Amino acid sequence: MTAAVTWTSEDTEEVDCCLCGVRGRPVHDLAPFGVVRCPRCGLVFVSPRLRPEALQRLYDDVGYFEGGVYGGGVEDGGAERSGRFDPAMLLQRTWTAGRLALLDRVRGRGAGGRLLEVGAGYGLFLDAARRAGWEASGVELSRTGARHAREVLGLDVFCGQLADAPLRPGFDVVCAWDTVEHVPDPLEFWRTARSLVADDGVVLFSTPYVSSLPARLLGTRWWTLKPAEHIWHFTPRTHAVLLARAGLALTRVVRSPLAAANAGRLDSLVGVARPVPR
Ligand SMILES: [Zn+2]
Repeated sequence: MTAAVTWTSEDTEEVDCCLCGVRGRPVHDLAPFGVVRCPRCGLVFVSPRLRPEALQRLYDDVGYFEGGVYGGGVEDGGAERSGRFDPAMLLQRTWTAGRLALLDRVRGRGAGGRLLEVGAGYGLFLDAARRAGWEASGVELSRTGARHAREVLGLDVFCGQLADAPLRPGFDVVCAWDTVEHVPDPLEFWRTARSLVADDGVVLFSTPYVSSLPARLLGTRWWTLKPAEHIWHFTPRTHAVLLARAGLALTRVVRSPLAAANAGRLDSLVGVARPVPR
């Protein structure tokens, strides 16, 4: 469980806004971390934040996916087999079905073609996408998650950073569920995604957002703040600015917690982006 890990200032480093290259101004002090806002573009991010080596240690932690939205039954399908009701697993399935349906709606046709998921976790979404008819590939930083996706589910998942993955460009779909808020450089992340998606393809993602009601009302008590792992905090506006810099146009934002793709998520959104013609 990540809560058991204690980080000190030795594990952290200061970073600049990924869009403007300037230091942020303090919003919350969460020593040894800080939440700051860029004075130029308004992007909220964590600085100081964990150094890359400490981040890798965090995602290698076997407990990383447990106890969160991934529930306790992911590793062995335990909840399923024992017949226990697991609300986290039910939500996970609702999101997966809702996101696959959203994908069909925005494309105006059914499943089929090449789909890449970045941050594939244990491979649950990829497995569902494959069953729906997609040729599914994934990238996952956590060795535990990638191993499960490959060995238990038989999925094509590369373990490592997106930039290092040996992928053939021209994907019809690139998905990144709750991933871009974790990556060291979101601009580089979206530029890589842009280089991988076909010109007529589509990019779908989800993130928490810092202009949500819970984030604004709860301040440092916002449950999604988690400064070790959530190192960028977007709004629909900063998402649009960032994506545009990477050659992607944000075409749709789903914020309603009643939408299946975002079910029950008061502080998160689902975004749809299209490549801007080069
Ligand atoms: Zn900025």
